[in-house]
Amino acid sequence: MVKEPDLTVFKQQLLVRRQQLAGLIQPKALHIHGKKTKSVDQQAQLEYSQIKKALARIEAGTYGQCVVCGEMIDGMRLEAYPHTPFCRSCVSP
Ligand SMILES: [Zn+2]
Repeated sequence: MVKEPDLTVFKQQLLVRRQQLAGLIQPKALHIHGKKTKSVDQQAQLEYSQIKKALARIEAGTYGQCVVCGEMIDGMRLEAYPHTPFCRSCVSP
């Protein structure tokens, strides 16, 4: 039997992480005018947008499904990367 992901736990983790990332991104983003951002910022922004999408999937009831193949993402992977939209096989084919 497949273990159901505990959405409240993941949602909480995502909200906390989003808060942390918002603190990293926003103060800089306000002062940048066409200046190239550092790769660490791009990483943070990518994660931030993935978190926003993950939260939207929780609301839509599709959280935990791979956006590519539609398979359930295994619980261990979600615990490590709660924002991931991909299952293990789609992220590393
Ligand atoms: Zn997949």
